[in-house]
Amino acid sequence: MSDKIWLSSPHMGGTEQNYVNEAFESNWIAPLGPNVNGFENDLAAYTGLKAASALSSGTAAIHLALIMLGVKAGDEVLVSSFTFSATVNPITYLGATPILIDSEPETWNMCPELLEEAIKDRISLGKKPKAIIPVHLYGMPAKIDRIMEIANRYKIPIIEDAAEALGSTYKNKKLGTFGIMGVLSFNGNKIITTSGGGALISNDEKFIQKSRFLATQARDNAPHYQHSEIGYNYRMSNIVAGIGRGQMEVLDKHIALRRENFLFYKKHLSEIDGISFLEEPNKDFFSNCWLTCILVDPKKTDGVTREDIRLALEAENIESRPLWKPMHMQPVLKDCPVYENGTSEKLFEMGLCLPSGSNLTMEDKKRILKVLNNLLGFEED
Ligand SMILES: *Cc1c(COP(=O)(O)O)cnc(C)c1O
Repeated sequence: MSDKIWLSSPHMGGTEQNYVNEAFESNWIAPLGPNVNGFENDLAAYTGLKAASALSSGTAAIHLALIMLGVKAGDEVLVSSFTFSATVNPITYLGATPILIDSEPETWNMCPELLEEAIKDRISLGKKPKAIIPVHLYGMPAKIDRIMEIANRYKIPIIEDAAEALGSTYKNKKLGTFGIMGVLSFNGNKIITTSGGGALISNDEKFIQKSRFLATQARDNAPHYQHSEIGYNYRMSNIVAGIGRGQMEVLDKHIALRRENFLFYKKHLSEIDGISFLEEPNKDFFSNCWLTCILVDPKKTDGVTREDIRLALEAENIESRPLWKPMHMQPVLKDCPVYENGTSEKLFEMGLCLPSGSNLTMEDKKRILKVLNNLLGFEED
């Protein structure tokens, strides 16, 4: 059996180990230290924001952001339905209710029209939502200017989930920098990884300081251990942050490689009837192409479905993955209010993420293409 081709596997640049070694040599084996500070500075510099707080996960970052916006039990938070569960789970940790908003078909992200409809409806039902969490899925920028305009008009703060979109931009501005706070993730298969980790980024240093405080058990400034608030253990370790510092050195290179993967698939597959891509709608949108996603329409592919493709790839030891199953279709969230238009359900039914790692070789890509060709039949060159 040929070697496994993963959907998106870690890709070290080479200097990560040096930073980790420094941590050992200086005995900073702790949830603070020079690598944590260095990584936070790198993230702030890269996104152009004032500050970043390195945390144990992106999920933790969303949780803290919601706490800092005062979200409490019984409150409502508007959130993209088409996302990974980590976007929505922290809303429920606080006893608040996720109000799920469907996608628009161009970027596959939160539909601005449905968002406004939901805001009006929730207000008329007696509750103004406390926050909005739009997501930039698969690295593709949401229609963030329209979403910001609506949020500003109704004075509802935005937490931007850019966990999959580090390095993507809208009108040359980095994603994660539009909302009052932005969320990043460095989990194992993200565009850069620290093995696990996340960050909260903001131009408002108050939020970042408060995030560091809450993430280290909310310890008051006193010689003994004194607490006036409930805290969490969410800080990033200095070892892990060392991996992050090394990964930041190769981030832009890895984005270029992922964009090349997308172009490779596009070149070979876009002529096939029934195959379409998640694509930048125009020059305002720049995607890091974290994952290349296709839609498969069996009515035009002689009956070949996305599941046929997934299984054929799996039989050749190649990992691919259906698109995220919308949150309003998840059993655990079945009672949440949803504003839907059918878009994300259709995406889930027809969509597949193809192997997209920045470490894919040309040989890997040809192996993948061969499987697709056997099923779909097209000219190979
Ligand atoms: C990965 C991810 C998160 C959460 O990040 P973790 O670091 O895994 O907790 C949040 N939102 C989206 C859309 C993600 O893909």
